[in-house]
Amino acid sequence: MDFRLSDEQRELQEAARGFARAELPAIAAELERDNVPPPRELVKRYARMGFLGVNIPTALGGLGLGNLEALIVLEEFAKISSAVAFPIFESMVGPVRAIEHFGSDSLKQRVVPKVCAGDMIVAVAMSEPEAGSALTDLKTRGVVDGDTVVLSGTKRWCSGGGHADAYVVYCRLSDDPGAKGIGAVLVEQGAPGLSFGPNESLMGFRGIPSADLNFDDCRVPSDNIIVPAGGFRKLMEAFDLERCGNATMALGQASGALEDVINYVQDRKQFGKPLAEFQAVQLKLAEMQMKVDAARLLIWRAAVNAEDGLPSVLESSIGKCFANSIAREVTGDAMQLMGAYGYSKEFPIERRLRDSWGWGIAGGAIDIQKVNIASAMLGRRFDQRR
Ligand SMILES: Cc1cc2nc3c(=O)[nH]c(=O)nc-3n(C[C@H](O)[C@H](O)[C@H](O)COP(=O)(O)OP(=O)(O)OC[C@H]3O[C@@H](n4cnc5c(N)ncnc54)[C@H](O)[C@@H]3O)c2cc1C
Repeated sequence: MDFRLSDEQRELQEAARGFARAELPAIAAELERDNVPPPRELVKRYARMGFLGVNIPTALGGLGLGNLEALIVLEEFAKISSAVAFPIFESMVGPVRAIEHFGSDSLKQRVVPKVCAGDMIVAVAMSEPEAGSALTDLKTRGVVDGDTVVLSGTKRWCSGGGHADAYVVYCRLSDDPGAKGIGAVLVEQGAPGLSFGPNESLMGFRGIPSADLNFDDCRVPSDNIIVPAGGFRKLMEAFDLERCGNATMALGQASGALEDVINYVQDRKQFGKPLAEFQAVQLKLAEMQMKVDAARLLIWRAAVNAEDGLPSVLESSIGKCFANSIAREVTGDAMQLMGAYGYSKEFPIERRLRDSWGWGIAGGAIDIQKVNIASAMLGRRFDQRR
C-alpha cells in the first residue's frame, strides 16, 4: 500500500491548485454575492484545460484518467467554493456518468463529448415533494408512446434547475411498485411541457441555482431513456461515484477552511503573540487536520478500490458520511478561530460552513449513509417502511 501520489497525480493537483487559487477566488466572491452560476466562458475554460473530463474516456472527449485523479482536481476547486467547483462536480462525477455507463451508444455520443467540451451541463432530478430519503416513493411517470416518452410529475431541489442544459430524470417507467418500476430519462432544456419553479433561496449553495422541474406531458425521444424500468440498481451504482464527489465537495469546504485558518492564526496577534502560540489553538488545529486527512483518505480509498469503475456503496457511504460530518465541525472551528472575521461575509469561512450543511443533506442525508453502511456491513437490506 502506498499513500503517496504519483508524480503525474501531483502535477495534476498542482495544475488544478495553481489555476484555482490564481483565477477563482474573486469570481467565487461574485457568484456568492449575486447568487449566479459560473459564466459559460469560465466553464469553457475549464474544458480547455481538461478539468471537465479528467476521468472520462478519451473516446468520449475526456482525459481518460481515473476517479482518484478526478477527485484530486475537484477538491482543489471545492476549496475555493462550491459554486466554482460545481460544473466540475457535475461533469466528472454527476449524472452524466450514468449516461456514460448505461446509456445507448447514440445517447452517450450525443451528450458526453459536449459535457467534456463545456457545451452542455447535465443536472440530476431525483427528489420530489414527497420523495426525499424515501426516493423509491417517487411518482414522476414516463409513458412510452411510439418513439417518444411522455413525462408527468414534479421534481424538487434540483441543483442546476432552470440553468442546466439537460436533466437526468428518475421516473416510473412501468407500473411495477417501488424500485422495480424506476428508470431514468434525459430531458433537454426546451423540451415541450418542461417548466421550472422559481429559484429556491437556500441557506448556502449560492451560485448553484436550484428549482422545481414540472413535467406537463413533456415529450422526449425514446432514445433518451438512459435505463428502463428495473434499472434503479444501476442508477444507484453510478450514484456511488456521485457520493464520492459530494464527499469531496464537503472535504473541500473543510480543507479550504483549514488552509485559511493556518495563515490566520499565525498572523493574528492577541495578548502580544500570534494566536498559534496558544496551546488551545494548537489542539484545535491538530484536531482539524486529523479530521481532514481521515476524510480524504476514506474518499480516496473508495476511489482507488473501485479502480476505474464505480465505487462500492460501503466505501462511498463511509467517505460521504465522514466527510459531511467533519466538514461541519472543521468549518465551525475555523469560524471560531477567526473570530469576527470568520463570522463576516467579507471572508469565505461562513460560506463554507453554510455549504457544509448542504452537502450533508444533498445526495442523501448523513444518517441515511449510516443506514447504507450498516446494511453493507451486515449484508442485509433494512426495509425502512416496516
Ligand atoms: C443543497 C441541496 C442540494 C440538492 N440537490 C439535489 C439535486 O441536485 N437533485 C435532487 O434530486 N435532489 C437534490 N437535493 C435533495 C436531496 O437529495 C434531499 O434533500 C435528501 O435526499 C433528503 O431528503 P429530504 O430533504 O426530503 O429529507 P427527509 O427525507 O424528509 O429526511 C429528513 C431527515 O430525516 C431523517 N431521516 C429520514 N429518513 C430516515 C431514515 N430512514 N433513517 C434515519 N433517519 C431518517 C434524516 O436525518 C433526514 O435528514 C438537494 C438537497 C440539498 C439540501
